[in-house]
This record gives sequence, C-alpha cells and structure tokens, in this order.
Amino acid sequence: MKSDLIDVQLYIPQIRVDLKYATSNNFTGQPVYHFDRCFLLKEVVLRLSQVQKELEAVDLGLKIWDGFRPLAVQWKFWELMPDRRYVADPREGGRHTRGTAVDVTLVSKDGKELPMPSDFDDFSEKARRDYAQASIEEIANRELLCSVMEKNDFIGLPTEWWHFDLLGWEKYPPLNVRF
Ligand SMILES: [Zn+2]
Repeated sequence: MKSDLIDVQLYIPQIRVDLKYATSNNFTGQPVYHFDRCFLLKEVVLRLSQVQKELEAVDLGLKIWDGFRPLAVQWKFWELMPDRRYVADPREGGRHTRGTAVDVTLVSKDGKELPMPSDFDDFSEKARRDYAQASIEEIANRELLCSVMEKNDFIGLPTEWWHFDLLGWEKYPPLNVRF
C-alpha cells in the first residue's frame, strides 16, 4: 500500500468507522471492498481529528461510512448507476479515489447514529443538503454536521448531506493503490 494514505483509526482511535461497501449493506447489495479500515490522506485525517475533538466537546462524535475508494470499485459503481448526481464518472477520477473525500454522520457518545434526513446512499430528494421536509431534529443534526465540517476546511455536496471533500481536492490525483 502507498504511504500517502493512512489508517484513520490509528490516528483517531475514538472515531467510529463502518465502511458500508465492506458489507452487503450498500446499494450494490454485496461487499465491494476487500478491506474494512478507513484510509485517507494525512491532511484529511488531521482535520477530521479536529472535527472529532469539537464534537466530543458536546458529547458527540463522527462515524465514517466511506473514505478512500479504489478506482476499480468506482468503475463498478458507475456501471450500476451512471448518474453524475450520485456517482462520479470514473474517467474523471472520482472524488473518493483521491483519499480526500469522506462520508460521515454524527453519533452520540455511545456510538448511536443521530437522526438524519435520510440513510447513507439514499438516491432521493432526502439526500439533498437543502431538503426541507425532514423533521426539525434531523435538519438540525444535518446542519451541525455541515457546519463543523466546513469550519475545518471541508466542503459539502448539494446532493449528498453525508459527503465532504477536503478544500482543494481537485488538485489531488486519483491514487492507484491496491490492497
Ligand atoms: Zn462520498
């Protein structure tokens, strides 16, 4: 494995990781990752560590659903869902393949997921950052997540409330890493 990517939990042991693509609990219905650790670039991990710290101050924490994604998996997703609103075109490299993108949600101190307007990979209106039909609590949680991430140099996506890229992610190339 290339050294640019690091195992997030080695640096932030208290962060929760539940890689959906390492299980069959994802839109493909099957495990597509042959690893269950989350790998990201060090500059991303440093900022996530700050996010986790700020959330712990209010008895919350982060749970990661996805981090680095091998390019071969990006191709597989594109074959299943060739829709740029939800899946990046692998010819353009994608976002998760650079090690600069992360899919996250909020958890309580004991690791329970906070209510959000939708589940992970919900390909509907509910996934949108501006979806307003959710409950007041769900919207407040979504806004809290976005504000703490954006304060720490991440930018969100209008179509997926759980997805964040490191500011300047376009400058990082897709990584050709095999596990
Ligand atoms: Zn994502």
